[in-house]
Amino acid sequence: MRYAIISDIHSNKQALNVVLADIKAQGVDSIVCLGDIVGYGPCPVEVIESCYQYVNHFVLGNHDAAAAGKLSTSNFNDNAKFLIDWTISRIDDGHKRFLSGNPLMLKGKNFRCAHGSLRAPGRFLYVLEDDEAREEFLAFPEQISFIGHSHVPGIFVIGASGNPHWLSPMDFNIEDEKRYIVNVGSIGQPRDDDFRASYCIYDNEKQDVFFRKVPFDIESYRRELAKAKIPENSSYFIEFYLTRTSKPLRDTIGFRELSAEQAIFGAEEVKSLECEVEKLRRSKKLLLIIIFLCVSVCLGLALLYAKISANNRSIAEAARIAEEKLAKKNKTIYDGIRRDFALLPPAQETEIILMPAIGEATSQKPFDGWSVELFHPDKQQVFCEIFPDKKQGDLPSFRIVSKSTDEIILKYKPLPVRRGMRFSASAQFKKISLEAGHIALCLLLEKPDGTTEVLAQNIPDEILSSDSWTRRTSITIGKDDAIRSEGMLYYAIKGNFSGEVLVRKCSLVEKK
Ligand code: ZN
Repeated sequence: MRYAIISDIHSNKQALNVVLADIKAQGVDSIVCLGDIVGYGPCPVEVIESCYQYVNHFVLGNHDAAAAGKLSTSNFNDNAKFLIDWTISRIDDGHKRFLSGNPLMLKGKNFRCAHGSLRAPGRFLYVLEDDEAREEFLAFPEQISFIGHSHVPGIFVIGASGNPHWLSPMDFNIEDEKRYIVNVGSIGQPRDDDFRASYCIYDNEKQDVFFRKVPFDIESYRRELAKAKIPENSSYFIEFYLTRTSKPLRDTIGFRELSAEQAIFGAEEVKSLECEVEKLRRSKKLLLIIIFLCVSVCLGLALLYAKISANNRSIAEAARIAEEKLAKKNKTIYDGIRRDFALLPPAQETEIILMPAIGEATSQKPFDGWSVELFHPDKQQVFCEIFPDKKQGDLPSFRIVSKSTDEIILKYKPLPVRRGMRFSASAQFKKISLEAGHIALCLLLEKPDGTTEVLAQNIPDEILSSDSWTRRTSITIGKDDAIRSEGMLYYAIKGNFSGEVLVRKCSLVEKK
């Protein structure tokens, strides 16, 4: 596995964006963030949301803990404290939940990570001196560990002499008789008199460590500070950029280490990267097999199709296909999905779906939060109406009317998802009439490459035999088939029928 290990972004979106682009160009399997996503900088919301989207693993930083309300600001200096309070006023509960859910330590196959220190990750100690490094080396069994916190990149190395010493950033291959503590530096608040973002790439199979430095647009960062009315002297690297005068590191640090009594607990203390690495390996193998099978099947089908179409396709058939194609081309979409919704999903186990307002979906008045795709719009209509229910009173329901078996798709607004998330979806159906075809409840995943995968679908058979509401038709993406790739999740009702069908109690929740 090749890991990109980043730290101390501190709400600096200019720096984070160029680093994410650099990481993409380097080709890594996984991105690990060692904490302090927020604090100091002017763009906490954008930075949390891109971290949520692109970073695979996190540990908790002291600024994150304070912004999430897990740590008092009494150990921060006035500048840091002011900017934590300012950050708290900009982020919402979802952002805070995300920050506070991160563990204090991550354990990989032959390495581990923490924000500041491995001997007491909940105290956010600094490892600056050789003596501090010596104690750190006693606190972990692996040959190498990664930290951030001081915002100064470099390496503590210990060999046969038993005396650790500090080395400036340099690429290296792990040597058998040595052990290492690597400080990856800071993305958004460098303090090493170098105003470029710093991070590391670690290949845990080849045992290589590379340091990367990426310049970012400081002028744009300064404009963002001015817009947010944050004074420039809140970021040491700007002072250095303007004056080229350096200060001792201790004078630039805005945080006093926590005493043993003040230490943070509660966050799951160690999270293992191992099972996910294994899962990734297995899914890569599986993916190769699936691709091979798909290619074989496609080739077979293509050959068969070529043969059939050459020999058997009648003129009538060709005309019908042409008509069908035209209908698909003429697909009408009434789209009521706003693309500016918050990127963070709602809390686990809470209902995500909201029904639209009563009425028919039209181009002038699409359903709020839903898109309706009709493949034969002059023969198909979708309404949201109130239907009374003896037991449960009036409930909003969709009425889907189709005089052709062409496809109709109702999709709820997309939810950004990460690998490993689990969901459960359900709905109830009732037929008014059903001459042909079927209707299904689906979960679709739109991947970053633009392709869409049907994760699961359920066709309620009951609808054929009964004229009353079906039981809850549900889909669960659970333990064994959790989301396997990041992307956008869509809750969808998909019909290919001629008749009239009602749908109600549309529900989607994220499972713990
Ligand atoms: Zn920091």
